[in-house]
Amino acid sequence: MKVLVPVKRVVDYNIKPRVAADGRGVETQGVKMSMNPFDEIALEEALRLREKGHASEVIAVTIGPQVAQDVLRTTMAMGADRAILISTDVDCEPRVVANLLKAVVEKEQPGLISMGKQAIDDDMNATGQMLAAKLGWPQGTFASQIDIADGHATVTREVDGGTETLALTLPAVITADLRLNEPRYASLPNIMKARKKPLETLEAASLGVDLTPHLTVVKVAEPPQRTAGIIVETVDELVQKLKTEAKVI
Ligand code: AMP
Repeated sequence: MKVLVPVKRVVDYNIKPRVAADGRGVETQGVKMSMNPFDEIALEEALRLREKGHASEVIAVTIGPQVAQDVLRTTMAMGADRAILISTDVDCEPRVVANLLKAVVEKEQPGLISMGKQAIDDDMNATGQMLAAKLGWPQGTFASQIDIADGHATVTREVDGGTETLALTLPAVITADLRLNEPRYASLPNIMKARKKPLETLEAASLGVDLTPHLTVVKVAEPPQRTAGIIVETVDELVQKLKTEAKVI
């Protein structure tokens, strides 16, 4: 079984994002970019499935500009067998990403799609669900454990206040949550080897998918600055301030 791992190139999670000058996004010029952390977890899980003998090949795919090749090289340094860049300079929304991934699925025929539950740049948490619906495949979202046996995947999901376990028939879409695993680091020899692994480029425009956005970001704003707190001496003083200054009681 092939496992397809869609990965997104996003602002590195260690960087504090800044609102772009036009107020309609996050500044990406001159900012360190890397693989979306949830996608690293999804990739790690795919690699473990291959190591356990459940998968024959792990294929990473990203939709983005030519520079997004860097995250694909990272996927191959971690252990992906090959990678596909769906090249476009259009900032694709989840519906378009799902349509492009569907075209890749039709070509590659994977038995499993292992992807992140959400991209940390726009926090959409939509692409996996849309892709499963478009393919008519079962979906296991927010996975914290995955077991494969006899053409089925058993997925433990993180839900409010506990877990839920689902049995899915394969092929299926599974989206990774934070506690699924701890991704491996790419070793220097593997980084070197990854340079020779196959990286195919397909033009997004050649896949017969309309890339026109249906969503417009109207405004992106930073959270309001918190004012400094004060230390009160007594409970009476606290109550007094809550009444007269904060006016919340
Ligand atoms: P989102 O719905 O945007 O929060 O993204 C959920 C997941 O969809 C991500 O964790 C990725 O696995 C996948 N994804 C989103 N955008 C892209 C992209 N441009 N290229 C490849 N995969 C993507």
